[in-house]
Amino acid sequence: MNTNHNRSQYVNLEEAGLFRDVSLKSIDRYFAYCFEEEISSGDILLSPDTENQHIYLLLSGLLRVHLGGTDSEPINYVHPGECVGEISIIDRLEPSAYVVAETDTRVWAIPHETFWRMVDASHTVAKNLLYILARRLRQGHGVICNHRELQKQLQQDAMIDGLTGVHNRRWFDNIIRGGIQRSLETHRPLCLLLIDIDYFKSFNDQFGHLTGDRILRDIAGILLKQLRTDDMLARFGGDEFVLALPETTLENALRIAEELRRGTHRLPLRGKQMQLSATLTISVGISDLRSEDDIDTLFERTDNALYQAKSRGRDCIVCL
Ligand code: GH3
Ligand code: MG
Repeated sequence: MNTNHNRSQYVNLEEAGLFRDVSLKSIDRYFAYCFEEEISSGDILLSPDTENQHIYLLLSGLLRVHLGGTDSEPINYVHPGECVGEISIIDRLEPSAYVVAETDTRVWAIPHETFWRMVDASHTVAKNLLYILARRLRQGHGVICNHRELQKQLQQDAMIDGLTGVHNRRWFDNIIRGGIQRSLETHRPLCLLLIDIDYFKSFNDQFGHLTGDRILRDIAGILLKQLRTDDMLARFGGDEFVLALPETTLENALRIAEELRRGTHRLPLRGKQMQLSATLTISVGISDLRSEDDIDTLFERTDNALYQAKSRGRDCIVCL
């Protein structure tokens, strides 16, 4: 998008894109029907609510184009020498966008019947019009692409936990059913792990919430290091993470959980209360998918396993 706002010089008609290489003599008999118009800064020149009767050539100033409403972010700017209104003149529909004067602006208005007479009279005007339309089409494609990118980004953001950068529960809920279904159909193993930090509330009280946040990020980092392409990790909420491991036996899942448990012992606990010392621990519940399972039974068993790990004094792993 060209946002160079300073090009407000006055252009002559022969400098306008619509009249490029046009001998003005061949069409000047129509100029009597055209007129100059001053638009004050902030005034609306074109709007989807009002039928448009003219093509406007910008002589000086600057116009901005909004798709949603005049409060939305402009999608484009129109500079001296360029024109607006040609699409609604061609398809005889209301303008598709709002066009607003960014600064005091002068335009040269060509009424639509006059415009078609100019096109009939000059092959070059018709060619220039095609060129202008092609540019508009490209601009439109650019806007669509940017919008799609933005949408994709927003969708991705909605699936990511802002603090740790790993996926969130919404993402996990969407993806886990498919993973379980695949493992059941192919009779391949899958293990589910629920990982919860021990006494995290008092850890926060002791070390401060910011150190707590860092610990959550560090644990997510340790978990991420263990991941293979098809593994599914998410922050399940608060101080709890969930990890689904397809193609993994209970024995291997135990080994992974044990590495994680030992890894958290080694996390450096720094922060403003450096004089305090503590060892961070986690409890882990694990269960493997069985042929009679569905998502609820698998989760229930894994949750029970975590509960038992907490009851057994924490800092341990229970398989059920
Ligand atoms: P338990 O061993 O039984 O799991 O004890 P706990 O204190 O860890 O358990 P509980 O679920 O009662 O508390 C979880 C705590 O996690 C509560 C809250 O202070 C902390 N917490 C949740 N989300 C965040 C967060 O985003 N950042 C920080 N720093 N702490 C969080
Ligand atoms: Mg906890």
